[in-house]
Amino acid sequence: MMGTMKLGNLDGRAVLVSDVGAIDVAHASAGEFGPSLRSVYDRWDDFTAAALAFDAVPSPFVPEQLGPPSPDPRQVFAIGLNYRAHAEETGQDVPDVPATFTKFPSCLNVPFGEIALPADTVDWEVELVVVIGRDASDVAATDAWDHVAGLTVGQDISERTTQMAAGRQFSLGKSYAGFGPTGPWVVTVDEVADPDDLALGCSLDGETVQDARTSDLIFPVPELIARLSAIVTLRPGDLIFTGTPSGVGVARTPPRFLAPGQVLETWVEGIGRLRHHITKGS
Ligand code: ZN
Repeated sequence: MMGTMKLGNLDGRAVLVSDVGAIDVAHASAGEFGPSLRSVYDRWDDFTAAALAFDAVPSPFVPEQLGPPSPDPRQVFAIGLNYRAHAEETGQDVPDVPATFTKFPSCLNVPFGEIALPADTVDWEVELVVVIGRDASDVAATDAWDHVAGLTVGQDISERTTQMAAGRQFSLGKSYAGFGPTGPWVVTVDEVADPDDLALGCSLDGETVQDARTSDLIFPVPELIARLSAIVTLRPGDLIFTGTPSGVGVARTPPRFLAPGQVLETWVEGIGRLRHHITKGS
């Protein structure tokens, strides 16, 4: 049984996070693991076994110092139309395979910071994000959770005009700088009560605009890993944005989009909460 833990990114260094502070992984392991997050995911099984024996005093930190918990993934997968009510609100049929695109890794953003708007049709999408912890190739759904390092919170920020240009440009429209906030940390699966049934949502200036549960996913996490790994090899540190529930701005009458000055808060039960100030892009 893996030890329960939260793994964070403090100044580019892997840290174990608790209520009382952060433990630097490289220091606590005398250099065996870390300091980069990538190096920790690449040896996830060894790391989780060794971390149980770390004997170090946590140092205080402020969450606003945290970076993305997997800052340089080799691959970022994202899934569209993966909640029934969201497929309905956008007028699309429920897909019979996961509708997959990428968020290019250069769009990853910190868990507490700013999102700059490049246009006036930018939308919010709360998502549960999976962080891979073992190479996964042709993995059965029943074995899929064994290949997950943990879960984190994400926003699949989407510029709807670019997204729908020239037919479909999902990967570009969702990859402007700052459009991929994740964090505040990665929570190991055994720390989450039921990883297949978590409340998630987001709010604008305190008004809840999305509020759902991951039990409503059309393709749940194990099924996504099975379907994706049948085609590509998933690598440690890779991210899967698992899709957004209903309540996005573009599907409203009239449509609503993010505006400078707003505060966007994003949460997943048992994992944590992100907070971003919306600013005007240059
Ligand atoms: Zn999305």
